[in-house]
Amino acid sequence: MCAEVVVLRLGHRKGRDPRITTHLGLVARAFGAQRLVLAGDEDEELFAGLHSVSESFGGSLQTEYTEKPMAWLKNFVKTGKAVHLTMYGLPFREVIPELHNNVPLCIVVGGAKVPRQVYDICHHNVAVGNQPHSEVAALALFLDSYVESPPVFDDAKLTIEPNQRGKTVHESGD
Ligand code: SAM
Repeated sequence: MCAEVVVLRLGHRKGRDPRITTHLGLVARAFGAQRLVLAGDEDEELFAGLHSVSESFGGSLQTEYTEKPMAWLKNFVKTGKAVHLTMYGLPFREVIPELHNNVPLCIVVGGAKVPRQVYDICHHNVAVGNQPHSEVAALALFLDSYVESPPVFDDAKLTIEPNQRGKTVHESGD
């Protein structure tokens, strides 16, 4: 089993980014991260939306806000490893085998402008292809490769039974 996986989302703008940052949180939760750390604007509503998904579908994605992401990151790398997702980095499939998943990992995803310091503080600058695309896509592909298997949430109130057509949802206690 992996040590803790944390996603640090830089530069969240409350007016413009709630949907994409929510999607980062949903991908983090579904593909095996345990914690989302938000930098930029504070956004309690966004956290509440993510908690309500966990309430129904299980798990407990932890959420926290940091006003000082560079200080937060510098502190994290004292004991953990950090990878920064950036189109300028090295291919993720080459870097992942170098990561030891018994050490806590922080995956940093950028916003509108990524401070230069991030490239230096992180142990690895990692690309999911060298084209500009989306932080959500980059996080999903990275986690899918890094995490051995996606989490199963035993405390889910709602679970979905895979279905060729139609929607089968079980409520706990069914
Ligand atoms: N203009 C920003 C900058 O200063 O680098 C990047 C904006 S981009 C829409 C937002 C984030 O998506 C990036 O910071 C990065 O984390 C992620 N991203 C986009 N394309 C990527 C790629 N090819 N590989 C890895 N991450 C990527």
